[in-house]
Amino acid sequence: MKVGDEIVCIRTHSQGFRNGVVKGKIFSLLAIDNCPSCGSSCFDVGVKSRVESNNRCVKCNGRYPSGGIWHIGPSLFAPIQYNSAHDELLSSITEEKSDVKIEEHEETLS
Ligand SMILES: [Zn+2]
Repeated sequence: MKVGDEIVCIRTHSQGFRNGVVKGKIFSLLAIDNCPSCGSSCFDVGVKSRVESNNRCVKCNGRYPSGGIWHIGPSLFAPIQYNSAHDELLSSITEEKSDVKIEEHEETLS
């Protein structure tokens, strides 16, 4: 996933209901920030931080300034997979509601 991608939430955040980060919702990936302590990446998907002035890193538990953005761990999101062969077809069938295919990625090492 890279900045500018459309991504879909695949798992509702523990505090997602009040912030709108719920499974199936589509976001734009606006920025990727890295924890200054451990370097793990967090996503800025345009959700404002409501109360906390600091983010807590999901990996190392360290806190760092949020800049008013609620940074969210990448594991809650997956890229939206567009099948390029079907893009034209889908765009021509605008009457029909097209279901977005979600592929859940599991981090398995084989
Ligand atoms: Zn960290």
